[in-house]
Amino acid sequence: MKTAVMALSGGMDSSALLLHLLREGYTVTAISFNYGQKHIIELERAASLIEYLREYNLNVIHHTADLTSATALFSSHLLQQGADVPKGHYEEANMKATVVPNRNAMFASLLYGTALSIATTHETSVEVVLGVHSGDHAIYPDCRPEFYRALEHAFALGNWDSEHVSFTLPYLDKDKIGILNDAQQSVQALGLDFDSVFKRTITSYQPDEMGRSEGTTGSDVERILAFNAIGRKDPIEYILPWEDVLENALQIERKHRENQYKEQLTELQYHVTREAGTERAFTGAYWNEKRPGTYRCICCSELLFTSTMKFDSGCGWPSFHTEHKEANIVRIEDLSHGMHRIEVRCSTCDAHLGHVFNDGPAAYGGERYCINSASLDFEEETGDES
Ligand SMILES: [Zn+2]
Repeated sequence: MKTAVMALSGGMDSSALLLHLLREGYTVTAISFNYGQKHIIELERAASLIEYLREYNLNVIHHTADLTSATALFSSHLLQQGADVPKGHYEEANMKATVVPNRNAMFASLLYGTALSIATTHETSVEVVLGVHSGDHAIYPDCRPEFYRALEHAFALGNWDSEHVSFTLPYLDKDKIGILNDAQQSVQALGLDFDSVFKRTITSYQPDEMGRSEGTTGSDVERILAFNAIGRKDPIEYILPWEDVLENALQIERKHRENQYKEQLTELQYHVTREAGTERAFTGAYWNEKRPGTYRCICCSELLFTSTMKFDSGCGWPSFHTEHKEANIVRIEDLSHGMHRIEVRCSTCDAHLGHVFNDGPAAYGGERYCINSASLDFEEETGDES
């Protein structure tokens, strides 16, 4: 029998992880930690999920560990003694305020100790299963896989019988959307109801006493966008109606993307791709480019064209007769400037690319993609072929 020890925070990642382990047939010991978090209501949600699962004969050994006497010494906006949790997008620098020093090291240490105790008492191997995921790597240094590899190594060095305990990180390469998709599969396999599971979770770091939040902190926004991305309404209650909460989150996300593009692109690239501008003919970097290679979207790196699709149209902009078969370039009717044209945009990031006309080479279907160099990132193909 497979045995797992995990932390159940009452948030959506660890709740999804618990379902994942039950689906995979693990016997699970779940530990919830009271570390003086402002969102202490998450512990009630965790207990409520355990109760709900019991109704379906899915029995989980659940403990709540109280760490508050130690963490009272810590400084963090996430803790009851800390200042307000900042609003806005997760990746902004101010979100560093929500780091609790050494939090995951403490949790991992206690999980490891529990796992080792189970392993020696029952003479079995035990996995410490962690919900670490790619979305968190960028923000929290103690969510990085190399940190957990180092911890596992250190704990193995410092304990007898450590060969019976290992770390498992099933969500390592998943983001929030991937985790929710995994949860949908688990819910189906276990015969549960998705909304009943996730209304027993909470993600906000600063909810009111009923567990409702404005949906504007980084963790809220991430959660709201993930539910929206899988085509569902978040089943938990917010202070505002779901439509408003979602619109706020989308706006925060748009603003964040726009800031990223402003940082990443030149003024011309930004103007062309994000404001549907046009570079002057015969001025761009690639109108006369003849080297073999690939052309990707300057904003999101999606592969759009290759040099074999390019031809010399004499118009002063890079011209292609075909798009890459996986580019899925979007076509939009464009009636601006008193003309009737078909605008083309990147399907991944909505960057404006240019227009498509019907005066291309007949041998390839007769189309001409007239693309701004500023929308493209060319990579020369090197090696034997060139
Ligand atoms: Zn793109």
